Amino acid sequence: MNVVGRFAPTPSGRMHLGNVFAALIAWLSVRSQGGEMVLRMEDLDTQRTSGEYARILREDLAWLGLDYDRETSPQSMRSQVYDRYFQTLQDLGLLYPCYCTRSQLHSVNAPHLSDGTYVYPGTCRDLTETQRASFTRSPAWRVRVPDRVWTLEDRVQGHFALNLAWQCGDMVVRRADGVYVYQLAVTVDDGEAGVTEVVRGMDLISSAPRQMYLQELFGFPHPVYGHVPMLLAPDGRRLSKRDRDLDLGILRSRLTPQALIGTLAACAGLIDRVEPISAKELVSVFRWENLRREDIILDPAGLIP
Ligand code: GLU
Repeated sequence: MNVVGRFAPTPSGRMHLGNVFAALIAWLSVRSQGGEMVLRMEDLDTQRTSGEYARILREDLAWLGLDYDRETSPQSMRSQVYDRYFQTLQDLGLLYPCYCTRSQLHSVNAPHLSDGTYVYPGTCRDLTETQRASFTRSPAWRVRVPDRVWTLEDRVQGHFALNLAWQCGDMVVRRADGVYVYQLAVTVDDGEAGVTEVVRGMDLISSAPRQMYLQELFGFPHPVYGHVPMLLAPDGRRLSKRDRDLDLGILRSRLTPQALIGTLAACAGLIDRVEPISAKELVSVFRWENLRREDIILDPAGLIP
């Protein structure tokens, strides 16, 4: 089978180290199998994203030496495609309107999981037509989830299981303002692009069962998953977009791509010691088994000469 992987960045700012790391591993996996790489801009949130950031992202990928074979339409252009899949869920009788407000959903009474996310308790699941008609605001739309355990064998994290009914609840697929949510858009886009492997940050692992459920409803095969460890500063905080000093704009002005990739590769266990190396040179030494599973501590100060 032909391997197809993807970069799916959100063009809401410069790439940070965590994005670079996930993109590097996704690319190495695909290139080491002679597969095809697809780029897709995840710009559903048109308030936070811009074409200018998308342009810079492409340039940053080029600077890193992470090439791709094709770019698919950005998500902001695909709402009519998503409409069709929304209709499929409607035809399956799985959708219902939800009128809960944000504050109701996040109230202290709502069941919360240890990571702070809430489990939707099904408040609007069985409203009557008369009850629905009594609301004046537009609803979000939720898909009913079955009481079933979803399991995956993640390339990095190993066995992962989640019961959507207990640990998530019925999922919103379209927001009250008509915007489709990430889970639906990603499932459709990966499915239509023929993506066979999804490599991204560990923070998204609980999205995999949500997407697997939608894949099944839409008739897409499940891809293979690899959720790569998070990059943490020595004080334990996650290196993220908030660390402006670590975005690729700054890093590019201070480091060569080989120096940056060499550091990431050594921290991740792909090479034995920190030395400059290009993405292309890493392809032949890349092995999933060597990739560390635990969070990676990286001192930002140590990166910049
Ligand atoms: N767009 C997401 C991000 O930039 C990644 C989503 C995914 O890989 O499924 O973090």
